[in-house]
Amino acid sequence: MKKLRILSGMRPTGKLHLGHYVGALENWVKLQENYDSFHLIADYHVLTTNLDTNHIYDNTIEMVIDWLAAGLDPAKSPFFRQSQIKEHTELFLIFSMLVTKARLERNPTVKEQARDLHISNIIYGHLGYPILQSADILLYKGEAVPVGEDQVPHIEITREVAKKFNQQWGKVFPEPQPLLTQFARLPGLDGNAKMSKSLNNSILLSDEPETVKQKLRKAVTDPQKIRKNDPGRPEVCLVFTYHKKFNPENVDEIESGCRSGQLGCVDCKLKCTEKINLFLEPIIERRKKYEADKEIVKDILIDGEKRGKEVARLTMQEVHEKMKLG
Ligand code: SF4
Repeated sequence: MKKLRILSGMRPTGKLHLGHYVGALENWVKLQENYDSFHLIADYHVLTTNLDTNHIYDNTIEMVIDWLAAGLDPAKSPFFRQSQIKEHTELFLIFSMLVTKARLERNPTVKEQARDLHISNIIYGHLGYPILQSADILLYKGEAVPVGEDQVPHIEITREVAKKFNQQWGKVFPEPQPLLTQFARLPGLDGNAKMSKSLNNSILLSDEPETVKQKLRKAVTDPQKIRKNDPGRPEVCLVFTYHKKFNPENVDEIESGCRSGQLGCVDCKLKCTEKINLFLEPIIERRKKYEADKEIVKDILIDGEKRGKEVARLTMQEVHEKMKLG
């Protein structure tokens, strides 16, 4: 039976953290077994909020190393950079004619981003990035897209774009469905709802055991649990969320120890550190191989870009034919 095609992507922001793993990578690794997966490095998307391009290439290599270390297999699912396959920008231009400004301004995700980044006067490229995302997905005829809740409005725009193109010029594109990631968000060490490198509240997939220990030592916990024997509220504590993810077999014991006051935060954090380090150990081990020889990573990109380019070329050929562009 033909496998469904999925397209997933990330902006290259350098080394990845546990939030990236839990919110996306873990799911991608599982999905690559049962889907025809393509993995996009969305380097042009970086420009929507940052015009400094000096680090994009190095950040790409670091991110790809983390993809590999986490278990993505480029033989099963090619990795490629948006900037190296020109068809992305061509399809973006065509799709830009199919979406109104008012439709883009209604998009809650871009509004939220602009608010978080204190952007009062949004640039055209940022407002229109869901259209570039639509081009990224539909260029490969993605039928499903693994996303968190916050990205669902973008998939809705992608479906609208596909429908409009198909109605206007004839059927080329599928209308992709979101594949919701279950454990979509991991809180940051400072208690922020989201782990983020820019907020300096993350544990990297490449952090050594001592670094993880030091970072967790400073993590925010229940503010009402001041002394070791005070009863705590695990439901408000981010360390408890980490236990749920990385130490599920002991979560009941941690919860009752915290509530009764028998478990202090120092010990609780040490138990959590141990589990996170156990989880990271094989990732760090695999990472070393690619760090030692980055040529392997470059070759993986060259191969992925060749495979991606071929699919993109065929799609654009079909687009040109339907649009009678010669
Ligand atoms: S004992 Fe653990 S779960 Fe409870 S507040 Fe402290 S760190 Fe959080």
